Amino acid sequence: MVLVAAIDVGGTKTRIEIFSEAREPLDAVVFDTPRSGDVTATLAQAVEKLAGEKKMDVAAVASPGPSDPVKGIILNPPNLSKEWWNLRITDRLGELLGCPVALENDANLGALGESEYGAGHEHSHVLYITVSTGIGTGLAVNGHIFGGSRGFAGELGHTTVTEKDRICGCGRRGCVEAVASGTAIAKQALNAGWSPPNGERPTARAVAEAAAAGDKAALEILTEAATYLGKAIVNFLYAYDPDVVLLGGGVAQSDLFLDLMRKAVDLEPMMPAFRGVPVLRAALGERSVIYGTRALAEKVAAESQGR
Ligand SMILES: [Zn+2]
Repeated sequence: MVLVAAIDVGGTKTRIEIFSEAREPLDAVVFDTPRSGDVTATLAQAVEKLAGEKKMDVAAVASPGPSDPVKGIILNPPNLSKEWWNLRITDRLGELLGCPVALENDANLGALGESEYGAGHEHSHVLYITVSTGIGTGLAVNGHIFGGSRGFAGELGHTTVTEKDRICGCGRRGCVEAVASGTAIAKQALNAGWSPPNGERPTARAVAEAAAAGDKAALEILTEAATYLGKAIVNFLYAYDPDVVLLGGGVAQSDLFLDLMRKAVDLEPMMPAFRGVPVLRAALGERSVIYGTRALAEKVAAESQGR
């Protein structure tokens, strides 16, 4: 029986789950992502505390991009503190845990998780899009991540959908992340002078809830974001010919946002052959990534056993 640790390092929270063969984890913990000290040692201690007497056979880490899965280095994700930057996490965590460790970009693992255990299970080419603080995407092809030459592929959030004067964090103008992410929706609301009924600072969730309740200004903001995402999805259909598109992340939990986005896809002129690809909500919710991390760890375990 192979024991694997799946570690999802997020911008705010870190989730660790330990699996053997059952679908559900043997044990799990969620804590604030460390922002000081020896962050790798903190992860190792958390795994060891969960495992008790048991020893891990393999571990895998999901990290926000950009990360280098080939060399096992977390590069410089804007959502993680400097302690994580240029961290050779696979070597260092491997030494501490005494087992092989793999690293992968979190959105790629979301795609793998949905492909192996979620809504993409019956599909061969699963395009996963997470719409939350940013927009992350990943493509799983027959249970394998499409990583590109260096493992950087799938940064579709930084493909452009408009010439509008909205500068993205990456430096480009009109990236889909800059006009359709949760952050972008909140920013648009703020710029439009919109505030939720409670008078607090607008969030994407508050905009979506107000739009669903009939607030016209909120509906306009949500519709614009959903329309841009719909345009981007058509670009991705042309690029990758997926057989399913799965939406995860907080913003995708809004039924209205999904409806508006699907409408935008339908209204976009498109070659007929590309029409009809289902665009669905991801099935595993906030655990798409952890299930992908588990699947990656199991692949590494199978490879090292086959050696
Ligand atoms: Zn960008």
